[in-house]
Amino acid sequence: MNAAHARSNIGAIDAAHHMHPFSDMKKLNADGTRIIQRAEGVHIFDNHGKKYLDGFAGLWCVNVGYGRKEITDAVMRQMNELPYYNTFFGTTTEPATLLAEKIISHAGPRFSHVFFTGSGSEANDTWFRMARVYWKTLGHPEKKVIISRKNGYHGSTVAGASLGGMKWMHEQGDLPIPGVVHIGQPYWYVEGGDLSPEEFGLRAAGELEEKILELGADKVAAFVAEPIQGAGGVIIPPSTYWPEIARICKKYDILLVNDEVICGFGRLGTWFGHQYYGLEPDLCPIAKGLSSGYLPIGGVMVSKRVADVLINEAGDFNHGFTYSGHPVCAAAALENLRIIEDEKLVERVRDDTGPYFAKAWKSLEDHEVVGQAESVGLMGGLQLAADKTTRRRYAKPEDAGVVVRNHCLKNGLVLRATNDRMLASPPLIITRAEIDELVTTLRGGLDHLR
Ligand code: PLP
Repeated sequence: MNAAHARSNIGAIDAAHHMHPFSDMKKLNADGTRIIQRAEGVHIFDNHGKKYLDGFAGLWCVNVGYGRKEITDAVMRQMNELPYYNTFFGTTTEPATLLAEKIISHAGPRFSHVFFTGSGSEANDTWFRMARVYWKTLGHPEKKVIISRKNGYHGSTVAGASLGGMKWMHEQGDLPIPGVVHIGQPYWYVEGGDLSPEEFGLRAAGELEEKILELGADKVAAFVAEPIQGAGGVIIPPSTYWPEIARICKKYDILLVNDEVICGFGRLGTWFGHQYYGLEPDLCPIAKGLSSGYLPIGGVMVSKRVADVLINEAGDFNHGFTYSGHPVCAAAALENLRIIEDEKLVERVRDDTGPYFAKAWKSLEDHEVVGQAESVGLMGGLQLAADKTTRRRYAKPEDAGVVVRNHCLKNGLVLRATNDRMLASPPLIITRAEIDELVTTLRGGLDHLR
């Protein structure tokens, strides 16, 4: 089949041969899939030439925006010099090693090492084993339960989906695996009842202490959570939540794991989400913004506390991926981080576009279908409400979000909907004018729901 024929036929070929992630394939094939052809800056273009403002940075990842020739040049250079070599058996490559150094320079003195993976899911599988090896090496082999949260998202591998708290994922594949248990999420709008957000934050964090006491602290290895729950709906925790979680982890000597796959690399106006909340995690899975999605790469940032035990006491860590530290992916990530540094994107989100976005996003709270519109940095969650005075939800929350999302899409804006929450996570290079455009188009979508 020649290329021209393939292009005009691409929808049919897709329906015949391509199974998409997280998709109802029957419905997708009937409706026809969207084909994205090219992208530039904060915009993507489909195969009909229609232009969209990408309010979702691909999948929370294209932090430096599309079309960065510096990254493609760095990739080409590395491809030509050394397209692949492994980091097993006593070898490394320059990009992998320099990337580990660069990541640690932004993670701060608490961290010393990075273990590379190909994705965020693999990163979660990796720290899972690290946490158990850590306690076993210290003479506590029974300290192995991982506590996670309802509606958390930590990937699609068996361990990642088990750690995640998505019921509809657990139902497929008989998950979670043994040794993973879940507590509630700090979702005040829906679960807070009559409590103030601050009271509810303490109550939600208190569930961790209750679970530890129920299981016995000597059985619990770690607690994992995203600094802000992303795929679960951009659930921004009340101010009391994280300090209480940190206190509990310290009190019972439980490793704190912050999944930085979304919040890392500038999204919250700090290099990492745990820095925004002033947390001291022991392990942090990373991916997405590490390479701005230009090539797949992830990893685990390992604190000195854990690295010291794994490196000096545990012996071989029998874990790794063919593509751990892939030199071309590492070269892309290094160039991506150079751009973030040189263009001061983290500072820009912290001091300029983040506060501007916060104000514009918050302004949507005057709309009658909006219960709450919150953001941190360039990560926004907007709660739709059938009755905002009583916090009553739509009878079918998932349909409400789809109506708004589809209207935005029709009008050239990509946003995500999780049930009755609208999620925004634009590239960190977005301008004030583009933020205005995003919010105006979203307002049109909200009008449509009325
Ligand atoms: N952790 C978080 C917080 C995520 O949002 C995701 C993906 O969205 C993952 C892990 C999994 O990453 P990947 O899809 O690269 O495996």
